[in-house]
Amino acid sequence: MKTIELYLRVSDYRAWLDCRRKFYLTKVYGIQEDTDLTRVRPPGNADIGSIVDHGLNALFNDQGRVDLWGAHNVPVGAVNSQWAKEWGNAVELSSIMLDGFEEWWAEQEESATLETRGIQVEVEHRFGPFYVGPGRSYEVYVTLIGHIDYEAYDHKFNTLAANDFKTVATLGQHLKQVDVQMNIYALLLAYSRNEHVGIARHIQLRRVKRTARATPPFYGKRTIVINHAQLARAEILLIHALRDMVQLYPWNAEHADDARYYPSPTGECNWKCNVKSLCDMMDDGSDWDSIAVNAYNLSEEAPVLLRPRFQLDKEEV
Ligand code: SF4
Repeated sequence: MKTIELYLRVSDYRAWLDCRRKFYLTKVYGIQEDTDLTRVRPPGNADIGSIVDHGLNALFNDQGRVDLWGAHNVPVGAVNSQWAKEWGNAVELSSIMLDGFEEWWAEQEESATLETRGIQVEVEHRFGPFYVGPGRSYEVYVTLIGHIDYEAYDHKFNTLAANDFKTVATLGQHLKQVDVQMNIYALLLAYSRNEHVGIARHIQLRRVKRTARATPPFYGKRTIVINHAQLARAEILLIHALRDMVQLYPWNAEHADDARYYPSPTGECNWKCNVKSLCDMMDDGSDWDSIAVNAYNLSEEAPVLLRPRFQLDKEEV
């Protein structure tokens, strides 16, 4: 039996929970974000998050403050471009957020009870096998990769802790999804270190300049205490989800029906979804497939490099 290896990130799992169609278009079909850092574009909220991350990495690595223009996501030439003012504002906002964060963090008891074990740590675990329908001659394994901002030993709770930072418009946003994601980070870290991870902590930084008109609080944290039973439950839910995610891949011809990739529209689609135009086309009968192939960057690693579609099936069955 042939083995197929899939590599997914925790953020992909979260994308799948949010909207299966978005997961399909970005992860299975391979529609890529615009990652060309030589082409200057205006900054978005994700860029501010990356710039702040760059500053936080340095802080927790005891390097003090660093030049935020050096964040990896700032495009080459941004400072002299038509978007220089916007990028300047993004860097200034990030800098103000970091100033306040340093003061706020120093007042938190965690600043004394956490012992740093790693910054920007990648952890992974291989799950499977998952089967892709009767009569198929292959099985699928999924390696789930998590990116943990700050791994620490928590001396208050005497356990390893996975800590995550996020910039948000409003404190307390999307806490349900945050809890799911943090449990999975804890699970992956526990597998990687071969010891229990009893704390997952999510720290939010508000995207606001703290002017006289802006009302505090500007920072918040959510600490989840995790016992072994919770971690086991999180793993069972994850495995069921991975099994369903694997079924979204068009491993076989009878899976060619686009209706399976149903949308989950919300008020955030307009500004948050980079595949909205394609999503709209899938519902109005347009030939979205050929537009996707011709007008979008497709990842060379996307499994639906089964172009022509379902080539794998023809080879294997
Ligand atoms: S536009 Fe909304 S419903 Fe459509 S793929 Fe994006 S997130 Fe899903």
